[in-house]
This record gives sequence, C-alpha cells and structure tokens, in this order.
Amino acid sequence: MTVQVRHITILGATGSIGTSTLDVISRHPEQYKVVALTGSSQIERLAKACIDHQPAYAVVLDEQAADRLQGMLADHAPDTCVLCGADALTRVATLPEVDTVMAAIVGSAGMPATLAAARAGKRVLLANKETLVLAGGLFMNAVRDSGAELLPIDSEHNAIYQVLPIAFREHPYRTSLAAAGISKLLLTASGGPFRTRSLDSLHRVTPEEAVRHPNWSMGQKISVDSASMMNKGLEVIEAHWLFNAPASQIQVVVHPQSVVHSMVEYQDGSVLAQLGSPDMRIPIAYGLAYPHRIETGVRPLNLFEVGRLDFEEPDLQRFPCLALAFAALESGGAATAVLNAANEIAVAAFLSGQIRFTDIPVLIEKTLSALPCLPADSIESLLAADGEARRVASQELATCTC
Ligand code: NDP
Ligand code: MG
Repeated sequence: MTVQVRHITILGATGSIGTSTLDVISRHPEQYKVVALTGSSQIERLAKACIDHQPAYAVVLDEQAADRLQGMLADHAPDTCVLCGADALTRVATLPEVDTVMAAIVGSAGMPATLAAARAGKRVLLANKETLVLAGGLFMNAVRDSGAELLPIDSEHNAIYQVLPIAFREHPYRTSLAAAGISKLLLTASGGPFRTRSLDSLHRVTPEEAVRHPNWSMGQKISVDSASMMNKGLEVIEAHWLFNAPASQIQVVVHPQSVVHSMVEYQDGSVLAQLGSPDMRIPIAYGLAYPHRIETGVRPLNLFEVGRLDFEEPDLQRFPCLALAFAALESGGAATAVLNAANEIAVAAFLSGQIRFTDIPVLIEKTLSALPCLPADSIESLLAADGEARRVASQELATCTC
C-alpha cells in the first residue's frame, strides 16, 4: 500500500498540544512532513522544533522575535523562512502545499487562522476550542462550504467522534442526532483539582494549585479552565457546534479517573464509550491518521491498575462557570463570544494575582449582564463582541468591584 504523505502546519507548535503533535509526527517521519510551525513567546523551543523538523516556514508574532529566531536558525535550519504577524499565521494555514492544519493556538487569538484553514478546505485538527465558542456558526458553515475535513482533537469530542456512526460524524448537518438514533452525548469531566476541596476554602486557592491538574498535563489557561470547570462549559458549546447537538442533549458527567473520555447514548439504550490513558497523543494521532490508526508511544491502558470507574453529577454551586456556559449557549447571538473573552481576561487576571479564583465567575457574569444581546452574524460582529467584552471585563477589573 502506498502511504499518502501528509503536509502539515502546526499553529501553536511550542505549546502542550503542539509538542505532543511533533512527538507523534517524529514517530512516523515517512508519513508526515512539517511545512510550517508557529510560536509566540517560546522562541528557543520553536528554534529547536525547526532544527528537528526543517519546516519551510516558521512564524512568530513580531519582528524582534523573528530576528531572534532567524539568528538561531542561521546555521542549522537555513532554508526555513521566518515570517511574523497575524497575517503570516493565516498564510501558513492556507498554503497550497499544506493539506493538514493542527489548530493549537490557545484562546481566541487562534480563531482567524483556524477559520482560514477551514475556508481553504484543509483537514483541520481542531484543538483550539475557542474558535467554536467564539464563531461556531461561521466556522461550521466554512467547513461545509469548502469541503474541509474537521477532526476534533479535544479528548472528549474525539471520543464522541470515534463512537458516532461514520455518516453522521462526517456530515452532522445533513441530519440530526435523533435521525441518527442518538439520544444523548455524555461529556465526561475530571472535576479538576478542586472537586472535593471545601467550598469555603476555594477563594484562597493559588494559581500554582489551580494549574496542577490531577490527570492531564496541559497549558496554563486550559488548566485553570479545568479547575473552574469553564473548560467543560466551553466543551459543551464545542459539542453543540461539532455534532449539531442542542444543549438539552448534552449531559456533563464527572468522572474523576479520566479514563472514559466521553460517551454516546443511543435510542435503544446502548451507551458507547472510548477509553484510554489520559494522553493527548491518542486523539492527535487519530486526527493525523484518520481513518487509519498509528502508533503513539502511549502506554496501553491497564484496567487492573485503574481498578474502578466513578461517575457523579456536576455540582453547579461549586462550579458556577459551567452554569454560565450553558446559559450563554441558550442565549444565542454573541453571548458565547462574550463568555469566552471575559473568561480569558478573568483567567489572566487570576494567574497574575489580580483576582481570586472565586472572582472568575463573578467577572464573567458581570460582563455577560452588561452585554446581553450582541449580534453574531459576521466575523466583524463577533470580533466586535469579543473586543467589547474584553473592554467591559477589564473595566470591571480596574474598578475591582468583584
Ligand atoms: P499552551 O499554552 O501550552 O500553548 C499555546 C500555543 O499557542 C503556544 O504555541 C503559544 O506560543 C501559542 N500562542 C499563545 N498566544 C498566542 C497568540 N496570541 N498568537 C499566536 N500564538 C499564540 O496551550 P495548550 O497546548 O494546552 O492548548 C492549545 C489549545 O488546545 C487551547 O485552545 C486548548 O483549549 C486546547 N486543548 C488543549 C488540551 C491539552 O491537553 N493541552 C486538551 C484539549 C484542548 P508560546 O508557547 O511560544 O508562547
Ligand atoms: Mg477536553
């Protein structure tokens, strides 16, 4: 069998997902060719990845970083062309020689290039969930109109994708969950580091404690989102768009062991699940090789070591961010864009010691109440809602009323 070589751009190559993607690719050099890598602040790490993979392009955000990177590559990757700026991210996401784009920039900063990759009809490996939270309708329209191939990398959505009927998962908008015989999507959540911590001590938790996830090793922002369960809220919105699923058919199930990555309940009572070790190389490899399977280096799941699997209902008093995300999804319009932007401001403020952990949902709620119904009919209106939400949230922070 001749193997089709895939030509890849990795947006966010220096992050947790980017590094795991390069690890999987390194195991299959005959099947994957890296065409472009992007980074932001970790220039040395980007330089090392460029030297290892010799991409045609490397992208950073500003000229100063570009000069530094160019200097580091001069002797060991002289053929890598260094570009800078947001337009360069879009350029490498849409290069004609690229067929696959790993979208792994964190936050809404990743949205424009991810959307451009979808519009250009690429295979999009979607880790950047914020793209769907900010611009889900536009993004899914772009996928449909261009014939792009969309493979979810977030472990829960990847699990659901794996156990959905093929015709439905590849074209969820041609039909509905009900027509495909599905009654519910069951999204599992670890509950993060504060699942059992006493409620009245939550206002004292430190950024160091919040980023120490019990099961997964991830970037800082998503780790704080997991601790507040905003991550699961964002994932409910992500599932809504990916699988054409109304909020009423998405149920969050707390599962502290993070072994069952999510489930699909069918109308006949069957529940199909995908299980595995909590290691992002599994969903990444699934997306890279789809519809085939490749080796990942992940230690096989040992069920005897796992021993037991527990499931609980989420506690919305402990995790108000989850309720805020469901409410924003129900509100429609640009409410989820506002939720996302306010969350990004709140998480950054918590990580820099400006606010307490328990202030995160307060700040988000205040921002949502101040901006009740902004339109979501174009990329311009969504970016305006994102900007307006950042302005309102920053103002709340400055007056420190939360
Ligand atoms: P990291 O923080 O580890 O990495 C983020 C990447 O984005 C880095 O390459 C970073 O560059 C780059 N970046 C940061 N800010 C900007 C910007 N303004 N413009 C361009 N690039 C930027 O995040 P993760 O890898 O953990 O997460 C990436 C995405 O994947 C997120 O959307 C997250 O929600 C999602 N995800 C992550 C999972 C995980 O296990 N980590 C699981 C499921 C989803 P640099 O480091 O050089 O500054
Ligand atoms: Mg996830």
